[in-house]
Amino acid sequence: MQLTFYGATEQVTGSCFLLQTSKGRILIDCGAVQGESACATTNLDDFPFDASAITVALVTHAHFDHTGRLPKLVRDGFDGIIYATTPTKSLTHIVLEDSLSVMRDQAAKCGHGLPYEEADVVACLAHMKGVSYGEQVEVLPGVVAMFHDAGHILGSSYISLDIDGHETASGKPERLVFSGDLGNDDTPILPDTEPLDHADILICEATYGDKVHDDMGTRSDKLAEVVNTVIGRGGTLLIPAFSIERTQELLYELDILLGEQKIPAVPIYLDSPLAIRATEIYRDCKSYLVFDHPASNDGDFFAFPNLHETLTQQESQAINVDHRPKIIIAGNGMMSGGRILHHLLRYLGDEKAAVLIVGYQAAFTLGRQIQDGAKEVDIYHKKITVKASIHNIEAFSAHGDRTKLTKFIHPLHGAIPKLFLTHGEHDIKTRFADYLKTQGITDVTIPRITQTFEL
Ligand SMILES: [Zn+2]
Repeated sequence: MQLTFYGATEQVTGSCFLLQTSKGRILIDCGAVQGESACATTNLDDFPFDASAITVALVTHAHFDHTGRLPKLVRDGFDGIIYATTPTKSLTHIVLEDSLSVMRDQAAKCGHGLPYEEADVVACLAHMKGVSYGEQVEVLPGVVAMFHDAGHILGSSYISLDIDGHETASGKPERLVFSGDLGNDDTPILPDTEPLDHADILICEATYGDKVHDDMGTRSDKLAEVVNTVIGRGGTLLIPAFSIERTQELLYELDILLGEQKIPAVPIYLDSPLAIRATEIYRDCKSYLVFDHPASNDGDFFAFPNLHETLTQQESQAINVDHRPKIIIAGNGMMSGGRILHHLLRYLGDEKAAVLIVGYQAAFTLGRQIQDGAKEVDIYHKKITVKASIHNIEAFSAHGDRTKLTKFIHPLHGAIPKLFLTHGEHDIKTRFADYLKTQGITDVTIPRITQTFEL
């Protein structure tokens, strides 16, 4: 069999891998490239493979960098089943719809086309089949897939493929594992990543392969500290939030902090249609979540009386006339688009205000510039001097750090797999590979884009 890396090699986004056996072709993830300039057209490019020749697709989780090109895959002739967990299917629906509206705006500004239309999203969803964690699915003759909880976002999985010995170079049955994105352990509302008990070949993300996050246990205290500091000086706290998972974790922690009266009951705006819709899906999928703390008096883990969900444009604009100290949670998380830009335009130059970064900021995004301490940034062609204070709580990251990734890889006692590192900037992967060597994991490959391996 052959494995080709069609994305998430030189960068974090654009996850897309193709496994070819004698019985067919399996695509694992079909994600969009993110973090490029607003008018980049990479996601409009033709696939470097024949979409109609793909037999089946498997999706690790709903994030756009893992699902964003699925409608184009269908539009270009793919006619098989797209397997994903049931919550991933629900979340993919809202992610693709939301992204289409964002891309429409960009396409109009930049004068280029769209990678897909509404009808392609509908067709794509019709191809999706929801499966359960731990369910064995024969996706091709001689290839059995299983989805395991990755603890990254609701419904996220790493996928194992048990391959018949007729297909492998060794002539023996082998297990391939695609990590997708791996979450942190001890995340408040998600189960820990299911331990990996066996893999012969592991394709593992390395987004934070060179970092060790803050202790998860202190993040709630840090959140309270930032809120109290900013509200105490009469300012507005902007939290550019990733709409799926980070936002629900934030709401959950704010719910607890408010219930315990550790922060004042200032207005909190959830100003992201995608995040509002995603929170509804989280409410519907409680059985997939783990709550280590009772919900405050209303019984809803993600809501409190001073929360304002501003779904419409008018509701969003009404935030501008609220001059009180407040918290605004708005997408998108890397500040490369979305409603957060309007709020940054308004508050980045305000020394009482603050920006709290709670997730990965890709190279070349506005979020990365702000995180790196830029004194001046450009938003909607206006130069803004950054006077707001910038805070960062890495423990909110949805990605496991070096310790977590090593823990995921290392239990394969005495049977260290062949390891491919993906999803990470090249320097990070190199440093992580060097670190793994000190831990006795030596068969590490950092694949390049379109590189093919015989397995
Ligand atoms: Zn992800």
